[in-house]
Amino acid sequence: MKNPHDVCIWKDTKECADCSIKGNLICHFRRKYLFCFLGFFLVFVITAFIGVIQAGFGWFLLGWLGFWLFFFEFWEIRILCSHCPYYAEEGKSLHCIANYSSLKLWKYHPEPMNLSEKIQLMIGFIILIGYPLIFLILGDQFIFLIVSIIEIIFFFSFLIIKRCGNCVNFSCPFNRVKQEVVDAFLEKNPIMKKAWQKARHKREE
Ligand code: SF4
Ligand code: SF4
Repeated sequence: MKNPHDVCIWKDTKECADCSIKGNLICHFRRKYLFCFLGFFLVFVITAFIGVIQAGFGWFLLGWLGFWLFFFEFWEIRILCSHCPYYAEEGKSLHCIANYSSLKLWKYHPEPMNLSEKIQLMIGFIILIGYPLIFLILGDQFIFLIVSIIEIIFFFSFLIIKRCGNCVNFSCPFNRVKQEVVDAFLEKNPIMKKAWQKARHKREE
């Protein structure tokens, strides 16, 4: 069964024909979305790599790569992605517009992210971005530092302007989808709706 949680984004696209929120969300995988995401991120990564090597701290990049593995394959995928409708697909790896092919070690969590997960996500992003910047500062590579910072600003601006207003992971702290669209999506996805209601009641207790 490809869609054990009965999430609409993994149903036959014929069922989208009369959807009132069609066009409001990035609810199907498209290669161009993935390539844009990877392109913006890679520009920053390549600059940071060259700068850190120039700074004489090349070996420390192994620590950064290790953190990527830990973050994308173990930590971020639990606190952020396991709540995402893209994650609800049957199978061992993720097929989405950003962390494509990451392993799904955790079960799907239809409820929204909680406060602790949101804080952890921010901490994870700060480590992910800050790690190479520290070595650029220590090695006096200020041109690489400034270019890297500009690239990371472009990356997050791209995400916030072009993705976060249409992303189906509604409880992510960056998500900006309108409440009426979220409500309409939850109506289409009863398992998610029930989990969101339960989380809301728990918060109100
Ligand atoms: S919200 Fe669900 S039903 Fe509507 S267009 Fe997207 S995938 Fe289809
Ligand atoms: S779209 Fe974003 S939140 Fe959803 S699974 Fe992919 S990376 Fe995670």
